[in-house]
Amino acid sequence: MNAKPTIAQRRGEGASGFIATRARQVLSEAVDLLERVVDDTLLAPEDRVRLAWDLADIFAWQVDFSRDIRSGDSFRVVAERLVSEDGEVRFGRVLAGDMVIGGLGYTAYRWTSADGSSGFYDAEGRSLRRAFLLAPVQFRRISSRMSSGRLHPILGIVRKHEGIDFAADAGTPVMAAGDGVVARREWSGGYGNLVEVDHGSGLITRYAHASKILVKQGDLVKRGQPVAQVGNSGRSTGPHLHFEVLVDGVPQNPTRFLAGRANEAKALAGATRRR
Ligand SMILES: [Zn+2]
Repeated sequence: MNAKPTIAQRRGEGASGFIATRARQVLSEAVDLLERVVDDTLLAPEDRVRLAWDLADIFAWQVDFSRDIRSGDSFRVVAERLVSEDGEVRFGRVLAGDMVIGGLGYTAYRWTSADGSSGFYDAEGRSLRRAFLLAPVQFRRISSRMSSGRLHPILGIVRKHEGIDFAADAGTPVMAAGDGVVARREWSGGYGNLVEVDHGSGLITRYAHASKILVKQGDLVKRGQPVAQVGNSGRSTGPHLHFEVLVDGVPQNPTRFLAGRANEAKALAGATRRR
């Protein structure tokens, strides 16, 4: 991305009474992110803090802001500039940004789909939210979906099912749904042999009932990399993978959650072709 404030957008008057006139470049030099944001006296203090958080959020899957940032790294951002009738300035949404961290470049462009949802993509149109496998195992059938209550086959009581069960032959490879770090690999009661992969941004995937675990705690894993083999360990009535997706510890519907990520990438590919 060249450092020209070329992204221009005109928006209608928002509920806040601010009108976005055109996008402008907020940052333009190789400086520390927070310092430069803090230096921008055109922005209200709460806006500077918000911009710093926005950047951290946009690049959360590429950069560990608690660890990777060093002096000499550079940041540039294009954001909407909102001006009220009496001249007060605020910044609106971040439209694009790029960073050089440890000599590696990262670029992000906001793209809004027809249904109004927006996300950030790199110059090749890949979602910055890395793609996830829709199913982390070659399964024969889905034997149980997420539900708020079902009769547990062993306990004989109604329990919530907080994941999805994929029936598959024992020994079938269980693959990491996305890039991440092995956060747990242990025997865990009803889960049997359990693997947990931490994907950053509070997202964790969980793989239970394995016959064999193929990774160690702290291992970096790539999307599609085998982390375990399907088994029948723990509270299980037949070989299957019990798979969970958690965001900040809260179980998500894995099918819906991972399909959402895939659709985001697909929608962009379609939009790119139409241009
Ligand atoms: Zn299950």
